[in-house]
Amino acid sequence: MTDHPRIPLAGVIGHPIAHSRSPALHGYWLKRYGIRGHYVPLDIAPSDLPQMLEALPRMGFVGVNITIPHKEAILRIADVITDRAALIGAANTLIFRKDGRIQADNTDGSGFIANLRQNAPHWNAASGPAVVFGAGGAARAVVAALIEVGVPEIRIANRTRPRADALRSDFGAKLVVSEWIQAANMLDGATTVINTTSLGMTGKSDFRVPLDGLRSDAVVTDLVYTPLMTQFLIEAQEKGCTVVDGLGMLLHQAAPGFERWFGQRPEVDEETRRAVLSA
Ligand code: NAP
Repeated sequence: MTDHPRIPLAGVIGHPIAHSRSPALHGYWLKRYGIRGHYVPLDIAPSDLPQMLEALPRMGFVGVNITIPHKEAILRIADVITDRAALIGAANTLIFRKDGRIQADNTDGSGFIANLRQNAPHWNAASGPAVVFGAGGAARAVVAALIEVGVPEIRIANRTRPRADALRSDFGAKLVVSEWIQAANMLDGATTVINTTSLGMTGKSDFRVPLDGLRSDAVVTDLVYTPLMTQFLIEAQEKGCTVVDGLGMLLHQAAPGFERWFGQRPEVDEETRRAVLSA
């Protein structure tokens, strides 16, 4: 029998998964670079995850993205965990290695920084304190990345205070925790401001915080990308701030996985954005 090279397969595992934009994004890149490969949505319930991860490499999968609700649980299944995934306590990218081991990485933080650098090129991490609203899984990746790029202070508030306190204890003294009801006070003098809560998403309430203390030269970003311009970003823009939507983070966090699985570093550009938005 001749040994045909296998067509590489990748995908995104979540539960549910129908809303994911990742198949449109990777599908667009595969077509753009003329790569013979496929990227598929995989709806897998938590109880089936270990078994499925055993089967996927045997079916020709070279890796997968991981999304809600599996991002934390996957660390208990993976064989090799990168330092940044361990620090964040969650993974979004798996590589099925040739030696049979599953490697878990987290590219959310690097995607977050790449998005800011691309869309607010004058942004200087060291220029002043950063404000982080929210302390969920995405906030952990954002905080880790902000520390890595040299932000001098991170002010954080979360509706459920113990989650913010947990970040302070995991990431150290650069974090200053405030009460959620006083969150607006954190804005004084801040040069980077981030909404990491899910508020503002289509179907949820807007994220509302008085922006009186916001500097007009601050860079403001929202992790929410449906809609692209959240009410929070609209109000920040009205104050004169540079605003960056969350779609770029989604695109940039996907690039390292695509490169690793399919052997091509993909471009994150206007064409890519358009392809994902029109899908
Ligand atoms: P998560 O772990 O469930 O955390 C949700 C966060 O939102 C928590 O801080 C939560 O506060 C807060 N929150 C939810 N409802 C709230 C309300 N009614 N009032 C105040 N705070 C509320 O989710 P996640 O994974 O961190 O994701 C957060 C958001 O980021 C989602 O919209 C997700 O789609 C987005 N995201 C975007 C990207 C991207 O690439 N652009 C990547 C990852 C995530 P409590 O702790 O008090 O519940």
